[in-house]
Amino acid sequence: MSETTPSSVPRRTSSRKQVRPIVEHEDGTTSSTPTRSGRPLLDFRGPRVSQPPQHLADMSMDERIAAVKEMGLPAFRAKQLSTHYFVHHSSDVDQMTDLPKDSRAELGERFFPTLLTEVHRLKTGNGDTIKFLWRLFDGSLVESVLMRYRNRITLCVSSQCGCGMNCPFCATGQQGLTRNMSAAEIVDQVVRANQVIAAGELADTSDEDRNLLGEAAAGVGDESGGEAVSETAPTGTSAGAHATASGGAAERVTNIVFMGMGEPLANYKRVMNAVRRFVEPGPSGLGMSARRITISTVGLVPGINKLAMEEIPVTFALSLHAPDDGLRNEMIPVNTRWNADEAIDAAYAYYKTSGRRVSIEYALIKDMNDHAWRAGLLAKKLNARGRGWVHVNPIPLNPTPGSVWTASEPDVAAEFVRVLRDAGVPTTIRDTRGKDIDGACGQLATSQQNDDAVTAD
Ligand code: SF4
Repeated sequence: MSETTPSSVPRRTSSRKQVRPIVEHEDGTTSSTPTRSGRPLLDFRGPRVSQPPQHLADMSMDERIAAVKEMGLPAFRAKQLSTHYFVHHSSDVDQMTDLPKDSRAELGERFFPTLLTEVHRLKTGNGDTIKFLWRLFDGSLVESVLMRYRNRITLCVSSQCGCGMNCPFCATGQQGLTRNMSAAEIVDQVVRANQVIAAGELADTSDEDRNLLGEAAAGVGDESGGEAVSETAPTGTSAGAHATASGGAAERVTNIVFMGMGEPLANYKRVMNAVRRFVEPGPSGLGMSARRITISTVGLVPGINKLAMEEIPVTFALSLHAPDDGLRNEMIPVNTRWNADEAIDAAYAYYKTSGRRVSIEYALIKDMNDHAWRAGLLAKKLNARGRGWVHVNPIPLNPTPGSVWTASEPDVAAEFVRVLRDAGVPTTIRDTRGKDIDGACGQLATSQQNDDAVTAD
C-alpha cells in the first residue's frame, strides 16, 4: 500500500518540523534507536529466570482440586479457597474460618504465596486515580493504575517485568526485559485493586471527565466512550457494582487494559491463562465480561492471529502510533519485523474473525507523529480495508520527565481528530489520567530502581 501523502488531506501543520525519535543516555549523549549489527534490539524471550511459586490463580479448577487432594483434603476445599480469592478477594487464610484450623497455614503456603508487595501508592489530587508500584518475589518492580470513570472502574495491568520491545519514547522500553510475569502475578493486580476499592480508597468523583477537546472523556481501552458506557453496571448501582450474597452492592474493577509494563503478546500463554481467570464465572474466576478486557499490542502479528482464534472475545487494540514505516520503524522497532500494513491487516483479520471492532491507539507526540497528513494517511489505510471495523483513540503523550518528547498542542490534536472524523473514521481522543503521579508507563518503576541503585551504592 502506498505511503504517500493523500492530496485531499489538509497540510495545515506540514510546515512544522519533524522530530525523529532519539534515545537519551544517562551521560547526556543521544543516539537513534539502539541497534545490534544494524538491527533494532528486540527481546522476545528475556533471560532464563525463575518464575514465582505457583499460586491458586495459576491453576484451573481441576488443577486446584488435584492439588488439595494431594494434600489429603477433600475436593470441595478447592472451591472454598477459590471463593475466598475470586469472590471475596481475600488470600488471608486466618480469615477463612470455614477451613480446618490445622490446615490453614499449609493451605496458605501452597495456594497463596505472596506475589505482590506494595512499594508505593500514588493518588491524584481528587483521588479517582491510584498508581501502584509492586515488588515481585525476585525484586522486579511493576506498576498498575486504577482509574474510576463515571460508569466503570478500569485497571491498567502489567504483563512483563520491563519490556523487550525497546520503544524509545517509553520508560519501560528503556529498562529492557527482565522476565515474563506469571498468570497469577497478573491476576493478583486485579484482586489487590479490588481490595483497595472495597476499602473505599478509590474516591467516588461524580464530576464528568472532559478530554482536551472538551468532550466527555473515555478511558483507555474503551472501544468508544458512548458504547462502553452503555454496557455498565445494573441500574441503581454505581460504577462497577455487583450484587453481593447479602443483597448489597460491592464495587470492583469492571474493565482491564493490558497497557501497563510489557508487551502482552510476547507473554502469550500466561496472559491468556490470566484472561481465563478474569472471565471464568466465580468461584473459578472473577466472572468478568471478556468485552471489557482489552489486549493491546505494538503489532506482534503471529500473536494477533493466534488471539483471533481464541474463543474468548476480548477487545483488541493495536498501538500503531504512526501509519508510515519510515517513522514507525524508529518509534516501534518491532515494525522492522512486521510493518504497519501487516499489523493493520492482522487487526482487520481479528475483526473479521471475532466480529469485534478493534481499536487503534495513537500516542500524540508533539512534532513527531501528530501531523494532519499522517491522520489522513491513517484514515486512508483504515478505510482501504473497510468501514465500521475500527475506532481510533489518539492519546496525548504522558511524557517522561526530562524527555525531549511531549504531548501535542490541543489545536494540533483537534486537527488530527478532525481529519480522521472527516474521513469517516470514528475517533475519540482519550484523557490522560495520572499526569501528576508519574502516569506514564514505567516511570514510577524506573525512579524506584534509581533510588534502589543509589541506596545500594
Ligand atoms: S510502548 Fe509498550 S511495547 Fe513499547 S517498550 Fe513500552 S511497554 Fe514495551
